[in-house]
Amino acid sequence: MAFEAFWEYNIHIMNIYKRLLFIINPNAGVRRREVPLADIIMCFSDHGYETVVCFTKEHGDGTRLVEGHAGDSIDLIVCMGGDGTLNEVISGCQKIGWDKPMGYIPAGSTNDFAASLGLPGDLLEAAERIMTGTPQKLDIGEFNGRSFVYTASCGIFSRTSYDTPQSAKNLLGHFAYILEGMKDITQFQPYEMKITADDETFEGNFIFATICNTFSLGGVMTLDRDFVDLGDGLFELLLITVPKDLVQLNLIVRALLEQNYDTPYVKVRKIRSAEMIFSDITDWSLDGEYEQGREHCRFEVHPAAVQMIY
Ligand SMILES: [Mg+2]
Repeated sequence: MAFEAFWEYNIHIMNIYKRLLFIINPNAGVRRREVPLADIIMCFSDHGYETVVCFTKEHGDGTRLVEGHAGDSIDLIVCMGGDGTLNEVISGCQKIGWDKPMGYIPAGSTNDFAASLGLPGDLLEAAERIMTGTPQKLDIGEFNGRSFVYTASCGIFSRTSYDTPQSAKNLLGHFAYILEGMKDITQFQPYEMKITADDETFEGNFIFATICNTFSLGGVMTLDRDFVDLGDGLFELLLITVPKDLVQLNLIVRALLEQNYDTPYVKVRKIRSAEMIFSDITDWSLDGEYEQGREHCRFEVHPAAVQMIY
């Protein structure tokens, strides 16, 4: 009889609980030792989820864990880490054609995209938000065959994330980005590029290019919330030409500060696709992670590719 009761209890549990795949990057923002993991899992449980917990160990594990564990029995994927972890998990979702919702608990040192989405800084609050929120469609970018969530960049500001050692990232947080970016201004060699975005072509020497779908980039640049829509099927292309003197540099800085993006030195366009040809190989950063440069690069939007709860 005891066995039957146990069996019935299990059937009961199996019927009422939905299953949540929880992917955690333990290295992101390790300075926050007070991660309330038990409280977060209890929060999931209170909302009817049985939680399968997986930890990433090395680069790319976020994608592999989704591929290996997000089967039919999983109802929701939640990842906890920085923007790089989110990128990996969403890449995995793209690979397996995941069409159920996913959520993000930002626990990295720099959570640009989390700030952009207005996610709570408190981890337990972020978990609660996922449990009570409504899934919203989010566009995903593809750059040379790799998925990215909010930015593909090259030039100043873009190298800073993967150039900064993890310990410095944790210590300095946002400040590391800005500092590294400033240091680059004097050292940076402009690159020659021809970019055809939808039907328009830009050609010249640039110090920065980004294709993004976000309100904030590396803490150094903001885009107006009335201007950017994360689910409009369009990404913003932002190009900054090389300043020839201090006057031009000042005009660029002012354009960025005033968010005036129609000057001879700063261009912003809303685009669906782009082809870029470089005379020299220039490395890129996808959501803050290194992407090797190529002579010929290609970008396209996958509209409403992910249902994200935020
Ligand atoms: Mg958009």
